[in-house]
Amino acid sequence: MIDYHIHTTRCGHAEGKMSEYVRQALQLSFLEIGFADHLPLLTKRDPSLTMSEEQLGEYIQAIEWLKEQFPSINIRAGIEADYFPGLEKETASLLSSYDFDYVIGSVHFIDGWGFDDSRYIEGYKSWNIYDLYAKYFELVASAASTGLFDIIGHLDLIKKYNFRPEEDITPLVKKTLKAIKDAGVCIEINTAGLRKPVGEIYPSIEILRLCHKEGVPITLGSDAHSPEHVGMDFDLAIIGAKQAGYSEIAMFKQRQRNFIKLR
Ligand SMILES: [Zn+2]
Ligand SMILES: [Zn+2]
Repeated sequence: MIDYHIHTTRCGHAEGKMSEYVRQALQLSFLEIGFADHLPLLTKRDPSLTMSEEQLGEYIQAIEWLKEQFPSINIRAGIEADYFPGLEKETASLLSSYDFDYVIGSVHFIDGWGFDDSRYIEGYKSWNIYDLYAKYFELVASAASTGLFDIIGHLDLIKKYNFRPEEDITPLVKKTLKAIKDAGVCIEINTAGLRKPVGEIYPSIEILRLCHKEGVPITLGSDAHSPEHVGMDFDLAIIGAKQAGYSEIAMFKQRQRNFIKLR
């Protein structure tokens, strides 16, 4: 098995040594893991959200060192980058300074509002929830279309605090999946949602079925912010993947995609 979404203390809201994350993966007999810590934000500096630009080199070095220390498991150098419309060039330039194995593209901000940050949860009050979902899925579609990312992170993150529209969101999701498919990008099954108020994997099984129907590949991530999160609830993720029709998952090395069979 693989876990492609692992953070480090550099983001300011994770705990434990990187080697402890690797040891947890070894204990689970995982084939491969990838660190995907938050790329520095281009809009502001917030040490409680991401590392600084100066730390990026050291982050990559730490992964290289772990590869030497733990030769019995494949360790990949990934990154989780925010999508900000209008800052595509700046994002591309920051991403090109290092040889990442893959880039997860995530939408955590809507017009500067960190909607997945509990400090700003009041923000939901000023939105019609369906309009909010529409705006969110539009941003995710744009993110995929930039070509900057290999994987779309936590596809339906907007449900995190369980604000749900009464309307059916299927048409919004389908439009976004078409953009993801056209861009040749894959999505992740992210188990962190189970540890959040929504208590559900990202994306939901309904959306996962739509993903499979559209021909969008999947990979797997725990969004670990603590060593014991590595591989957490992957049994449920795999059951969901199979129920949705998937038989393989995507892996990356130097931004080249391959697949392994789901067992
Ligand atoms: Zn994220
Ligand atoms: Zn993450």
